[in-house]
Amino acid sequence: FTNDASNVTADLYSVLKTVFGYSAFRDGQLQVIEAALSQRDSFVLMPTGGGKSLCYQLPALILPQVTVVVSPLMSLMKDQVDALKANGIAAEFINSSQSREDILQVFARLRRNELKLLYVAPERLLQPQFLDRLQDVGVSLLAIDEAHCISQWGHDFRPDYMALALLKQRFPQVPLMALTATADAATRHDILQQLQLQQPYINLSSFDRPNIRYTVQEKFRPVEQLVAYLQQQEGSSGIVYCASRRKVDELTEQLKQRGFNAAAYHAGLDSEQRAAVQDAFKRDDYQLIVATVAFGMGVNKSNIRYVVHFELPRTIEAYYQETGRAGRDGVAAEAMLLFDPADIGRMKRWLDAEPNQQRAEVTWQRFLAMAAFAEAQTCRRQVLLNYFGEASQTRCGNCDICLNPPQQFNATELAQKALSCVYRVGQSFGMHHVIDVLRGGHSQKIIELGHDKLSTWGIGTGLSHDYWLSILRQLIHFGLLQQDITAHSVLKLQPAARPVLRGESSLSLAIPRLHSVKRETEQLS
Ligand code: ADP
Ligand code: ZN
Repeated sequence: FTNDASNVTADLYSVLKTVFGYSAFRDGQLQVIEAALSQRDSFVLMPTGGGKSLCYQLPALILPQVTVVVSPLMSLMKDQVDALKANGIAAEFINSSQSREDILQVFARLRRNELKLLYVAPERLLQPQFLDRLQDVGVSLLAIDEAHCISQWGHDFRPDYMALALLKQRFPQVPLMALTATADAATRHDILQQLQLQQPYINLSSFDRPNIRYTVQEKFRPVEQLVAYLQQQEGSSGIVYCASRRKVDELTEQLKQRGFNAAAYHAGLDSEQRAAVQDAFKRDDYQLIVATVAFGMGVNKSNIRYVVHFELPRTIEAYYQETGRAGRDGVAAEAMLLFDPADIGRMKRWLDAEPNQQRAEVTWQRFLAMAAFAEAQTCRRQVLLNYFGEASQTRCGNCDICLNPPQQFNATELAQKALSCVYRVGQSFGMHHVIDVLRGGHSQKIIELGHDKLSTWGIGTGLSHDYWLSILRQLIHFGLLQQDITAHSVLKLQPAARPVLRGESSLSLAIPRLHSVKRETEQLS
């Protein structure tokens, strides 16, 4: 290995070709690999299927000592190790499914420095004895897969992951690579901080899936709507996601009765049944799977043409992951969401009963972001990408809003009112308070805070609460405002708000299409 940069890159291409059989790196991979080889910490955000594993597997082959991969899922761990072994790479895993003898054998290989990759679950890695062993043999690279599990803001928080915070102290010389497919800005910040990454190389790959068309239908007669939709999809494969096992079973029956070649999939089936359904779907023996979120991890069928959400998913991350299973082959595919605004109230009541109210609050804020997507009057793709930190000013042309746009109007003055009100209340309040101030409310909160003395108090009295809500949501979706989910969703001005506030640029927004349904979100601040 020479120090000449172009030679190094040439060597990487040769390993890529000879060991992995690929001729080109995917977006971001080469830079991340180079960072690892130069001992630098890194943070890797790539969508599912983007090729995260290669980012640590390839350097692992080049680095002198073992690369330790922390992974939360036993089954995935085994799959990866089997695939590596089949490629002739010295890889092993250690987890609770193994016998003592197996584990001792892995340790023996580790001591002899025979292993290139060692996969472990976090709780195992953190056992003092295990850490001692690793320190003795020496580690070249530490990769933390599914790194969002460390964050309470993440959708999949795992207490075991929290203790990974001590790795940096324990192995200060070893580069740390944190990888995830699901991180909004808050989670991302949290990962960097908790793992104490030192001036990390940061890779943020695009989350855009241009071949997926996003559509939302308001739910009136859900089964009829679904049947009509499925009839248009004749002959192609798809998934219909529901929120509960009961719903999955019920809907599968209804669809079968209507002549659809459907099967149910949820965690209530035993593992053989589940594997059988998955295989049959892969072979196109079933045309569609009605499933809970349990269906997905292992689905690698590339020609799924549509994903329907029969109920509102709980987070945008989940929605993105689930819809992302469509169109892996790059051919046009569709994600259709059936949305009933009443789901919002249902979720609220359910969370009110949750004993851990701090946890409930996080869940609620993430859910509201999902609901806002469903209610959006702006390009769905812009909303999605903006949520993942990829603000974009161009409409996609491939979502229901772009294809059938709501009427636009010049909203510059309204936007100025809203934005200056956010500013006047010190960027410390949520949507509902800002709207109350705009509409000249006399709530106790307003009086106590003296917000009735603000210059922006009562400048928006002519418009309804819902109307303002739609305006604020659009300002969020366009990236002029941001909701801080780590702090009660208070509204903050973003740089894009400046030209509008100063009157340097005008802004078009959609005329709000208001639901007649009374939204219970409005009782919340
Ligand atoms: P992730 O962990 O980000 O979801 P994976 O690492 O499992 O994604 O990779 C997804 C798929 O892409 C795998 O089948 C993998 O073999 C393939 N892949 C990864 N990198 C490349 C590449 N440079 N060229 C072609 N295929 C790749
Ligand atoms: Zn669009």
